[in-house]
Amino acid sequence: MPFPVIVDDTHEGHDPPYELNAGRMVAPVPERPERIEVIADALVAAGFPTHPCATHDDDVLDGVHDAHMVAFLRDGYAAWRAAGGPEVMIADTFRSPAWAAGGRRPRSPLGALGWYCTDTATPLVAGSYAAARAAVDLACTAVDHVLDGAPAAYALTRPPGHHAGPGYFGGFCLLNHAATAAQRLRAAGPVAIVDIDVHHGNGTQDVFWHAPDVLYTSVHTDPDHQYPYFSGATDELGGGAGHGTTRNLPLAPGTGDEGFLHAVAIACELTTAFDPATVVVSLGLDAADVDPLGQLEVTAEGFARAGALLGALDRPTVVVQEGGYALADLGALTLATLRAFEDARG
Ligand SMILES: [Zn+2]
Repeated sequence: MPFPVIVDDTHEGHDPPYELNAGRMVAPVPERPERIEVIADALVAAGFPTHPCATHDDDVLDGVHDAHMVAFLRDGYAAWRAAGGPEVMIADTFRSPAWAAGGRRPRSPLGALGWYCTDTATPLVAGSYAAARAAVDLACTAVDHVLDGAPAAYALTRPPGHHAGPGYFGGFCLLNHAATAAQRLRAAGPVAIVDIDVHHGNGTQDVFWHAPDVLYTSVHTDPDHQYPYFSGATDELGGGAGHGTTRNLPLAPGTGDEGFLHAVAIACELTTAFDPATVVVSLGLDAADVDPLGQLEVTAEGFARAGALLGALDRPTVVVQEGGYALADLGALTLATLRAFEDARG
């Protein structure tokens, strides 16, 4: 029986006309609404049932994001426009830890954006906050299904979330829906998050850095070669009581199926040893050989085998959508992964 797919169209309001990426003005942006349409079309055609998203109170963000950052995301864009700012809001100055002074959160909207946002590839437009907040509701609705007894549920979330940390956002991500799902699932026992997006999930890692009951494993391109550059190395293991519950598995560009699947198998072995009550999968499809941003050269068959490894964990699982930018292939890649996941559960 195909598991529930949670859908919502609020994400369409987050549609920046351009971004600044590696010195270039990029238009159209890679992270755009059509991504969700092609995935939904493929899953519906294959018989996956869609379910609407339920709204959840803002307390689902407690323990995940700083309340001041959430308030900025909610209100900052309107303040920017009221002050005469153009349609697209991109910071021009960023907070740096090397800045000896600079410990005061700016009052101006543009200054505050540079305080919270990490880069120029994450523009804000009028519908951005509503889209990110709806993605959190999608993930929480998938949690509701799993806590009600569904063996698995898939939240078709956009924008992605795993680069959003406790007090920062960036890398196309605004709010961390995978972390929000994990935070809610913690009430049911230990949680393991497996992140197979091609980029390291620095935000998720930071949210649960000190958490002994949340295992975070990530398979991604070596940050010496790819965003987010500053994290994702093997010696990042978590802090305090959470030491050992962060495990990074960086791979060289061009790794391909066998090396990717070896790393996913290690992530699954670590997860089984952790013996979680529930699992959250951060499903990025941007490790695909056809992806315009990824570098790991994984085939559709490789994704199907990864889906089988994740399904064989045989735990109640919330799957959330992260990256994946090959519009012509995204539906087939997602379908291959989820079908194999389902088949492996038997
Ligand atoms: Zn990614």
